[in-house]
Amino acid sequence: MTDRLYESDGYMREAEATVIGIDGDGVILDRTVFYPEGGGQPGDRGMLGRFIISDTLKGEDGSPRHIIKGEKPAVGETLPLVLDWEHRYLYMMEHSAQHLVSSILFRHGIGTVAVHQGERFFTIETDSASIDDALLLSVEDEALRAVSEGHAIEQREMSHEEAEALGMRRSIKVEGRVKVVFISGLDAVACGGVHLKSTSEIGELSYYGQERIRGHVRTMWKCGPLAVSSRRENLAIVRASSALLSSEIDGIVEAIGHLAEENAELRHMVKKARRASASFEYSLHRRETEEGKAVIFHTSEEISSFEDAISETDSQEALIVDDSARFMFHGTGERFSKLREGLKAYSLRGGGRGMLYRGSLSGDISRMLKEAGELLNG
Ligand SMILES: [Zn+2]
Repeated sequence: MTDRLYESDGYMREAEATVIGIDGDGVILDRTVFYPEGGGQPGDRGMLGRFIISDTLKGEDGSPRHIIKGEKPAVGETLPLVLDWEHRYLYMMEHSAQHLVSSILFRHGIGTVAVHQGERFFTIETDSASIDDALLLSVEDEALRAVSEGHAIEQREMSHEEAEALGMRRSIKVEGRVKVVFISGLDAVACGGVHLKSTSEIGELSYYGQERIRGHVRTMWKCGPLAVSSRRENLAIVRASSALLSSEIDGIVEAIGHLAEENAELRHMVKKARRASASFEYSLHRRETEEGKAVIFHTSEEISSFEDAISETDSQEALIVDDSARFMFHGTGERFSKLREGLKAYSLRGGGRGMLYRGSLSGDISRMLKEAGELLNG
């Protein structure tokens, strides 16, 4: 059994440890400062002597498995164990911030169903089907107040009865003695994780958004350095947008609205112009085509622009192929089948309804058009 030093002191970053067992890639030590993945918190990373610990997982007997890929230390070897403190501290921060936010949500009648601490933000899945953003922003206000007030966070171990008597916001999931985490004056909940000493260490905290999952609202939060870098990134985006749009910051949304309107108008105009040009191109080819024969040609226009032109003449057979080998055929289904059958080598894909068929083909376009001419007009 490993002596889990992080349970009594979450701030210990180093220790001398002796290897007492190897289980696959998992190295078991007599003592450790490494927290194993659990309770929504990722496992710790760091070094054991010259060996890289890429993750820490919980073993069946509760002893952490320090994951070392490749060469491993020998059983009996004593080595310095050093935590990737930046990684661990971030998750301690997110974990503590999550306790704080969950406790405030609870006072608003919202329970916590599941939590996750991530690289970019932490999430709290609630038991509510919908929550107003306005409420979550006021939860953010309350949490920020608690951060600035600097409430002490401490873990105390007690009997099951004592813990039950606290009437905590979440039921106790462990047997026997219970570790309870208190945020002084605000919260008590059973938890075996690692936490900060004070809410003041959270620094910044911000509500980041919500999404629906399994019929519940999952809320997203950023804290500490993640909240700071997010605030800076957002400001940089806003400034760059303001420069690109030549607009004051508070006029960005309006400026984008104008651009979108203008863009829609332009697209409409381009589409109209393309159709007009396609109609003209089609009429030229039609004039050159002998009466009663199919109009067949290759265009550099987009094939979709020909829809009006090709459909306007009900009985005129036509086949047009564009530069990307997309085609449009106007004719009966029977004639389209004949075309597809006769041009098997060009693997025509696609279909249609009534007299209009479209799709794509592969191979030499000009040779294909020549063969199509022989098939349809021969
Ligand atoms: Zn906890």
